Amino acid sequence: SNRTFTMIKPDAMADGHAGAILDQIIKAGFKIVAMKQTRLSIEKAGEFYAVHKERPFFGELTEFMSSGPIVAAILEKENAVADFRTLIGATNPANAEEGTIRKRFARSVGENAVHGSDSDENAAIEGNFFFSAFERF
Ligand code: ATP
Repeated sequence: SNRTFTMIKPDAMADGHAGAILDQIIKAGFKIVAMKQTRLSIEKAGEFYAVHKERPFFGELTEFMSSGPIVAAILEKENAVADFRTLIGATNPANAEEGTIRKRFARSVGENAVHGSDSDENAAIEGNFFFSAFERF
């Protein structure tokens, strides 16, 4: 597929980076298929990150992700999943390449500015979690 899913996380929203992040995403060649500003309840955050529920940072992650507004978006580009992971950089901004979104805007490994799907399958699952069929046609 040529789609991926992203969220601008509460840290980057609170720090006023949403515009700059979207600008970098668009300039990198991604088309916005669907986008909304919304919030996750702690229960919804737990559902979204269910794969991590046995991890030691699960409570911290779901609390953080429900702590403020986020932007959720479905993006389109050839090779979208891999190219977007390259654009955002390593999970820990300390290890992220210069110029990547996480290097530029993330606070820490937990509060790391953006999410990017790790597979085509998860991109579809995650896009469907936030957007109805008519919003993502
Ligand atoms: P994402 O799925 O958000 O794109 P990722 O695939 O780079 O991130 P994962 O290992 O899947 O990273 O972790 C999911 C999210 O959990 C991370 O983006 C981060 O917000 C949080 N996280 C990961 N490791 C830690 C940690 N050691 N401490 C706190 N939070 C963490």
